[in-house]
Parts: sequence; C-alpha cells; structure tokens
Amino acid sequence: MKACTTCYEIKEFNAFYKVTRSVDGYGWTCKPCYNIYQKSSRDKNPEEYRRKQREWLAKNPEAAKRNRVSNRIWIAANKERFAETRRKWYVKNKERHCKVANIYYHSSKNVQERKNELRTKREYGDYAEVAKALRALNKEKNDGKKKKSRPT
Ligand SMILES: [Zn+2]
Repeated sequence: MKACTTCYEIKEFNAFYKVTRSVDGYGWTCKPCYNIYQKSSRDKNPEEYRRKQREWLAKNPEAAKRNRVSNRIWIAANKERFAETRRKWYVKNKERHCKVANIYYHSSKNVQERKNELRTKREYGDYAEVAKALRALNKEKNDGKKKKSRPT
C-alpha cells in the first residue's frame, strides 16, 4: 500500500507505475493521476511532448524496441480497435496524409531522393504513413535489384 502524492488516496502498489529510480520501485502518483498529468501536458504543448518523446526514444533504443514489440502484440490482440483508430486518424489527418502520399506516388524523383524526402517528413510525426511509403520504396528498390541480377 502506498499513498498517492497527488490525490492522497492510499492504494495498492499495482495502482502505481513502476519507476526504477524511486525507493520502493513505484511512482509517486497513482496511475489515474499520472495519466491525467500526462494528458494535460500533452494537450498543452503537443509539439513539445512529441519532441521529448522522440528524444527519449532516441536515447533508449532498447525501450523503443520493446515498445514496438508490445505495440505489435497489442495490435494483433485488438485488430478491430486498431483499424478504427487508424480510420479516425486518417480522417483527422487527411490533409497531411495526402501530402506524404504525394511525395511517394506523384514524384518524378528516384527512389533514394523520395526516401530522403520521406525521412524529413518523419520529423513532423507522420510515422505510420512514412513507414508505409518507405516499405513500398524498399520493395521497389529490391524488385529492381532482382530484375538486374537475373540473367537475360
Ligand atoms: Zn492519485
């Protein structure tokens, strides 16, 4: 049992997130309070929040890898919810989505140039779309290689 420093309620340990640098291994605020705090800081300054998150992930490649793995597991277990979230995201970000798609589909530049352009786009947080386009570009590149190496 532990008291939350925000709502002052005494809760079980599993109501707190694990924090390695705290004495007992758990955070100072309970999960609901922490989530509220996170959400409010995210809403106040979304750009700053994303920047910090990117910085943190760059410094913690192992954690980033773990995140990706657990994301994939979550997606596999919640396919319908994920599809719904993605659909909503698409509606909300249609304009941005189209901009990225334009680079990929309607560019006369070669694969490497388009790739570089997409990498720049990634800085603005179009992760899903950029990843998709990069995968397609890689495929295009590999297909080209295969064709060249095949004896004629
Ligand atoms: Zn609390």
